Amino acid sequence: MGKTPGENERFGIDLFNERTMQRYISEASLSVWRECVRKRTVLPEKIADDIADGMKRWALEKGATHYTHWFQPLNGETAEKHEGFLIPDGRDGYRMEFSRKELLRGEPDASSFPSGGLRSTFEARGYSAWDPTSYAFIKDKVLCIPTVFCTYSGEVLDKKTPLLRSSDALNRQAVRVLKLLGDEHTESVRVNIGAEQEYFLIPKDLFQQREDLRLCGRTLIGADATKKQELEDHYYGAIKPEIAAFMQDLNEELWKLGICAKTEHNEVAPAQYEMAPFFTDANTANDQNQLTMEIMKRVADRHDLVCLFHEKPFAGINGSGKHVNWSVSTDKGENLFSPGTTPAENIRFLLFLTAFIKGVDEYAGLLRCSAAHAGNDHRLGGQEAPPAIISVFVGSELEAVIDSLINDEPYTGREDRLLTVGKDVLMHLSQDNTDRNRTSPVAFTGNKFEFRMPGASQSIATPVTYLNTIMAQELKECAEYLETRDDRAEAVRSLIRDMLSAHRRILFSGNGYDPAWVEEAARRGLKNLRTTAETIPEFLREENVRLLTENGIYSSAEIASRNEIHQESYCGTTAIEARTMREMIRKNIFGAVSAFLSSMDGAFYFEKELKKTAGMLGNDLLQAVKDLEEALEAFEAASDPASRLEIASTRLTARMADCRRITDQLEDVIDSRFWPYPTYTRLLFAI
Ligand code: ADP
Ligand code: MG
Repeated sequence: MGKTPGENERFGIDLFNERTMQRYISEASLSVWRECVRKRTVLPEKIADDIADGMKRWALEKGATHYTHWFQPLNGETAEKHEGFLIPDGRDGYRMEFSRKELLRGEPDASSFPSGGLRSTFEARGYSAWDPTSYAFIKDKVLCIPTVFCTYSGEVLDKKTPLLRSSDALNRQAVRVLKLLGDEHTESVRVNIGAEQEYFLIPKDLFQQREDLRLCGRTLIGADATKKQELEDHYYGAIKPEIAAFMQDLNEELWKLGICAKTEHNEVAPAQYEMAPFFTDANTANDQNQLTMEIMKRVADRHDLVCLFHEKPFAGINGSGKHVNWSVSTDKGENLFSPGTTPAENIRFLLFLTAFIKGVDEYAGLLRCSAAHAGNDHRLGGQEAPPAIISVFVGSELEAVIDSLINDEPYTGREDRLLTVGKDVLMHLSQDNTDRNRTSPVAFTGNKFEFRMPGASQSIATPVTYLNTIMAQELKECAEYLETRDDRAEAVRSLIRDMLSAHRRILFSGNGYDPAWVEEAARRGLKNLRTTAETIPEFLREENVRLLTENGIYSSAEIASRNEIHQESYCGTTAIEARTMREMIRKNIFGAVSAFLSSMDGAFYFEKELKKTAGMLGNDLLQAVKDLEEALEAFEAASDPASRLEIASTRLTARMADCRRITDQLEDVIDSRFWPYPTYTRLLFAI
């Protein structure tokens, strides 16, 4: 998208980025800061003083009245606690206080954030510490300082710290491998992320009429709309004026924070849209995605719309995901997943590609865990999302290259591209000839991998942390092997061949929605973890725990805490849904059925028949809701996490499905004047 000069001026105006820092901080201090960020070393106090002072002057000039440490607790949201700049000076006046101390450390009362047993509620203290690698920004006249968040004794309570640790681990191992490949000039590598965000927009007044949308973010009942997505007329369709106005407003807000929406378009389902930002480093991309979701909600509100990030707000049509585009590049700007044109680079590409393929195969279960989430259970494995089975799509051309490598045969590329594998690898893959496969959970798209499993409402921090850690581990193993070999050129080639032969099974280019794939994947020994409940034991498997602890991502205590939170959040979400559904049926649906029944005296045959159908469905629904209540009681009575999980994932979900089936049949029968909730057709086609 081309920028007009006016847009350029607005871009990043609320962000304390390097360009702005140059105006408020001395060049000498800035260069120390740059070195510290690059080498990931601790900032000297004097420099932190200068930055705090510059940040304060900038924020006050921009009219900020408060500041906050902005962090990403384990509930997947963001948190902030505002502190005023202004304090009384004791002589009827005021001064503005903000210095190194306030910049570096905060002490938010942490007792109400999930800690998974890491911090007992009486030990309320949590510490937030400035992350100098991500830019501060202003939101609603509040200076927001991105921070990490931990307990008094240093256990990590947020999603940002593991992400930073994993990028460091990958950096170390990638540089080590590059050195072994003869690269003397690369000092560091960074992870690049572009997170495509899908969402729904619906009218606010309709949203407010439905408890399920308000409390759960998704519809718990609702008969199919008369029109769904069968005409495929929404995807990339012309954007309606109301939506265009929202997008324009959103862009303005995002630009101010230095977030550039690269593409935006209608998605497959009616009322569904997508926004893709320009990719950036993993830490910034994660901050930006959290901010983007928050701003989308507010801008929607200004337009009398509601933005839904739930993975499956409406049954029967596509749900929303967050495609995480992931690549690794050097400090010289070279993308390590770029196939390149020279032999040396191709060996490098093949080694990185192979290491990644091996990693996905070995830790498929862990990757699956990163997308496990109550909302995503309704999406993964449906006809629109990637299946719950992890496989890697590399495109037919790369797959042929891989097969020739495994078989030690020369690869003949298309016409002009002759590829001799094993000696001089001459390969050039332009983005155009890596074909597309929308059904694959992990797809190579020319020079990056796209991980399509994460849900639209989820933070990208954990999926990216795992992708980074898996890659770091594989590169470490490659390095350890190569370091023992003198004939390095030959060793690299045989290493690539051996790794590919052992992990060929994870590659799949067919249709992931085809039921035959489920059988084929089982034959290949690939995991099919269909639900969140099935991923819970997976997370604690020895190899995953070892991966995460040995690479310094989590301590054992931190792993146990994540597991507990994950489980509790699943159970909590499911129980809220069950209670909401129960209430909707008891308080509104039965009333609607009765009103409908008494609106007809049964004088005509059709009335008798309608009454009979509605009456019988009403009876069935009463039984179904009683069964749901019984399951809820059992759930509330269960005290240990394992039985709560068992009840939530089996009985509660099954009883809710029963209630829904009957309610949706009733909606079809009952006169719309009596139906208490806006229908799917209204929700999806009101705009
Ligand atoms: P697609 O064809 O999948 O729509 P796009 O080029 O539109 O591909 O990119 C989708 C997302 O991937 C965008 O957020 C984009 O910024 C991001 N992206 C592009 N190149 C890279 C890369 N090398 N590493 C990480 N993300 C990237
Ligand atoms: Mg894409």
